[in-house]
Amino acid sequence: MSLIAPTVSGPVDSLNRVEDQDLNSALMDIPKASRGGRAYLSLSDAGQAAGEVAVDGPSSSKVPSLAVTDRPLNAYAAASMTPDAGGLTPQLTARTSMSNQTSLDYRNKQLALLGPLRPQPTKIWKRKFVKLMVVGDSGLGKTTLISALLSKPGEQLQVHDGTNTPLGQFLKDPDSLITRVTWKDEQDKVVWVFRVQDTPGYGDDQDISRHIGMIVQHINAQNTKWLDMESARDRCIDLIDVEDPRVDVCLYCLPPHRLRQNDVRYMAELSKHVPIIPVIMKADTMTIHEAQRFRQEVVNRLQNPALSGIRGKIEVFRFSPQTLERAGLPSSAAMSIPPFVVIASNDINQAALQDEPPTYWPERSYKWGTAEAFNPDHSDLLFLRSLLMAEALEEVSVDKRQRYEEWRQRHLATPFLAGLRRRLLRFALATALPAAAVVFAAQNGFDKQRMRDSVKDGAQRLKERVIGKKAADAQSAADARAESAAAAALREAEAAIMAAEQAQQAALQELQKGRQQQQPAQKKGWF
Ligand code: GDP
Repeated sequence: MSLIAPTVSGPVDSLNRVEDQDLNSALMDIPKASRGGRAYLSLSDAGQAAGEVAVDGPSSSKVPSLAVTDRPLNAYAAASMTPDAGGLTPQLTARTSMSNQTSLDYRNKQLALLGPLRPQPTKIWKRKFVKLMVVGDSGLGKTTLISALLSKPGEQLQVHDGTNTPLGQFLKDPDSLITRVTWKDEQDKVVWVFRVQDTPGYGDDQDISRHIGMIVQHINAQNTKWLDMESARDRCIDLIDVEDPRVDVCLYCLPPHRLRQNDVRYMAELSKHVPIIPVIMKADTMTIHEAQRFRQEVVNRLQNPALSGIRGKIEVFRFSPQTLERAGLPSSAAMSIPPFVVIASNDINQAALQDEPPTYWPERSYKWGTAEAFNPDHSDLLFLRSLLMAEALEEVSVDKRQRYEEWRQRHLATPFLAGLRRRLLRFALATALPAAAVVFAAQNGFDKQRMRDSVKDGAQRLKERVIGKKAADAQSAADARAESAAAAALREAEAAIMAAEQAQQAALQELQKGRQQQQPAQKKGWF
């Protein structure tokens, strides 16, 4: 048997190095006799004592007399080496002015510190941010869905101030289309800040790639914002307190009944930048059979998009099976993959609001019956809400951080390529295009206005292509440079036109002169 003294007699850091087991056996080994009648703390005692009240000395209680003392821990540990040093003598009332409850808490913490488990650190409140983006065609019910996802009894969220989601507003101030809710996780001391970014539908816009470019640009711009915050000279010490603008996940809203090429293409492009969760809207317009068939059709097209220019399957966000199970989803294989089939509504069942506790129950009433948004037999909205706002929150956050790291590496590795592209553009605009213009002029006879128009047209098209690509990369600075390069090139092209004009004038004069010289010779019958 060994006494505790040789094992824990050092300063605190040496105490910390003692492994659980060593400390445990060392404490257990203290002979009762050597305790001199005082109750020294052993781990078995500590276990029994947890939660028990003992403010008197050891004689009145079997609870170990671990005293509340204002001595530092290492002094306390040293004092406990010899029974007579008085280190563990109860001195609660004499030494402290704490209330009974506070001193009890303090004492329990001390006991836990020496118990069989490692101590539980005190948690402090922190904020965690999640941003969901909702994308899809106009009129599908995106705004209604956001409200149904986030609202609670007595609080019908006004998603944003417009009845529609205008493109101009999104381009100018996307944050004005964000709906934000916060709530506290008391257990983990986390304040969740959950934001949903609404987006304008692509509506009648035939050029879907322009709409995709705009959304992708927005996603990348949020990443760039975060990168700028990370690398700012006077950044916050801890970025955990800063509102994170990055998009975590995207709900892609599909119309019921028919899967359009545009939607397949949109999902394929978008999924390269952010994980998507396909959601089939307005489930109440489909019969059970139609809904099943359409869900399967979407699953098949995600596996095999069968579209030109799109290789491989379309990646969607993969919830882990455990997460799906926690959210109450049936664990059948078909259900483990989105798409979710949902109903949303702004009409709330008033009777459910009077229930105890009040329940938020959006529904759609028809003459023949009622479709209920959160009824699992009617719609998957309850599962979606459970996943997005509870069970998969951490999973989604982790995924965002991994994806951002990959984006960051790519982004920081591209300046050379971006520079090369800029140089190529400048060369094309300043040299190749004017040269082509001169050749064109020489071949087709010179028409100044036509030339000017075709040079302008060519430059504009080239500029649009390059700037369009740039915009997708959210390089607004590069955009400005490309624009000024284009303007300079235009000026140079104009100068080249003038030069060509002068050259043509000179050539015409030469031709005229030659003709004049030929005429007398012909008269003389030389040819
Ligand atoms: P957004 O343009 O995609 O934001 O669509 P809105 O949220 O403005 O909704 C357009 C219309 O669809 C509104 O009249 C909604 O009431 C309706 N709507 C929304 N969700 C559903 C649904 O699940 N089923 C049906 N039948 N209509 C819906």
